Amino acid sequence: MAIDIKNKKITVLGAARSGLAAAKLVKNFGAQVFVSDISKKDDKKRQIEILEQAGIEYEFGAHSKRAFEADLVVLSPGIPVKSEIVQLIMQAKIPLYSEIEIAGWFCRAPIIAVTGSNGKTTTTTLIGEMLKKRYPDAIVAGNIGAPFSDYVENSHEKTWAVVEVSSFQLETIDTFCPCTAAVLNFAPNHLDHYKSYEDYLKAKWRITKNLKADDLLIFNSADQKLSGWAENLSCRLQRFDIEGGKNAAAFYEKGALFLNEKKLIDVNEMPLRGIHNYMNAMAAALAAARANVSFDHIKETLQTFNGVEHRLEFVAEKNGVKYINDSKATTVESLSFALQSFNEPIVLIAGGKDKGSDFTKLNDLISKQVKEIILIGNAASKMSEVWRDLKPLHIMDTLESAVLKAQAVTEKGDVVILSPACASFDMFADFEDRGRQFKKIVNNL
Ligand code: ADP
Repeated sequence: MAIDIKNKKITVLGAARSGLAAAKLVKNFGAQVFVSDISKKDDKKRQIEILEQAGIEYEFGAHSKRAFEADLVVLSPGIPVKSEIVQLIMQAKIPLYSEIEIAGWFCRAPIIAVTGSNGKTTTTTLIGEMLKKRYPDAIVAGNIGAPFSDYVENSHEKTWAVVEVSSFQLETIDTFCPCTAAVLNFAPNHLDHYKSYEDYLKAKWRITKNLKADDLLIFNSADQKLSGWAENLSCRLQRFDIEGGKNAAAFYEKGALFLNEKKLIDVNEMPLRGIHNYMNAMAAALAAARANVSFDHIKETLQTFNGVEHRLEFVAEKNGVKYINDSKATTVESLSFALQSFNEPIVLIAGGKDKGSDFTKLNDLISKQVKEIILIGNAASKMSEVWRDLKPLHIMDTLESAVLKAQAVTEKGDVVILSPACASFDMFADFEDRGRQFKKIVNNL
C-alpha cells in the first residue's frame, strides 16, 4: 500500500457507485470516512441506505467545511478535476486521488489497464473473457459499471485484473501501476472538460506514468501521436496495426488477425464486426497473451464473444431482416464504423440530441451503404438538411414509429441499425434506456 490509511481521515467526493465502493473499501481498512455529494438528499435514498449500513458518515446537497477536514480526498470518476470543489481541495493542498488509485493500493493481482477515446468497454470486457479462461476469478472492473474498489479486497497474486480507466481518473493517479497498459486510440472527445486536445491526450497518457522497464505498453501504431510518444518510453512496447505486419505484434491482413506472426483467426469466424472491433480484438489478444492466456483460449474467446450490449448488438431477425442495436454510437465516428461493418443494404435509424457534429462527414458512406434513412429527435431536421438529397428519408416522432417505418421499407436481406450519432437525452434517460426500448420494440414486431 502506498499510504497506511488506518485512522486517517478520508473524504470521498461523490456518492455514485465508485465513490460508495471506495468509501467502503477505505473504511474496511480502518480509515475514518466521510462522503460528500452535492446532489439533493431526496434523490439518494439507496445511497443513504448503503452508507448507513456501512456506518459511514455523509452529507448531501453541498460540500461543507467538514469535507476539507481530511488527510486525503478520494475523487469519484464522474467529478471533473476542473470542478470548483476539486479546485478548492487542491488549493487547500489536501492530497487528492482518483478511485482507481486507491483501489490500486489494495489490489494484489497484476493489473492490465485499458484506456483510449473509443473501444475501452469492449476491449476491457473482451480481455476479461480471455483472462477468465485461465483465471476464473480474474477481476474485470473500472468504468464498465463495476468499480475497481469493489473487487480488490480479496484479490491475490495468482490472478489478474483488467481495469477500464478514463482520462478523468488518470488525472489524479499517483502510484497506480499497471504491469500492462493498452492505449487504443486518440480522438477528440470530452473537449468541453479540457483546455485543449493536447491536455486531454496528456491526461490519457498518464496511464504510462509508472510503467517500469519490464512493463508493457500496447498501442495502436496507426496513431502517429501515440506512436511518437511511445517511442520515448523505457518500458516494453507492442504495437497493433490494422494495416498489416511490419513491427506489429498483432496485425490484420487479408481478412485475418495475426498474433506474434501466427495466424490467430479469420475475422469472419468472429461474431464481432467491423474494423474498429478488429483493433479492439488485437489489443485484447496482446494483453491476454501477456497474462499467459494460451493462444487457443484467446482464439476460442474471439470465436464466441458477441460484443457488449448496445454496441452493434444483434437483436433479432424478423422476416429475413436483421435488427442491430448500436445505441452507444453517440458520435459521427461511431456511426461511420457501424456503416462500414455491414455489407447488407442498411436502413438507418439515427438522430437524438446533437453534440454539434458535422454530419456531412458521413455523406459518402451514407450514399454507398444506406438504403433509407429514418430520423428521430432534436437533430432530425439538421441531419435531414444534410442527407435528404442522398437517400429516401423519413422523420418520425417516436422510436416506435421509426422502427415500424423501418419494418415497412425493408425487404429480406436488409439490416436495420439504430446507430444514432447523437446523445440520447432529448427522448431517453440515457443510451442504455434508448437501446433497451429499441430491443423491446423490435422483439414485439
Ligand atoms: P468506450 O468504452 O471507449 O466508450 P465502447 O467499447 O463502449 O467504447 O464502444 C463505444 C463505441 O465506440 C462503439 O459503439 C463504436 O461505435 C466505437 N468504437 C469501439 N471501438 C472503437 C475503436 N477501436 N476505434 C474507434 N471507435 C470505436
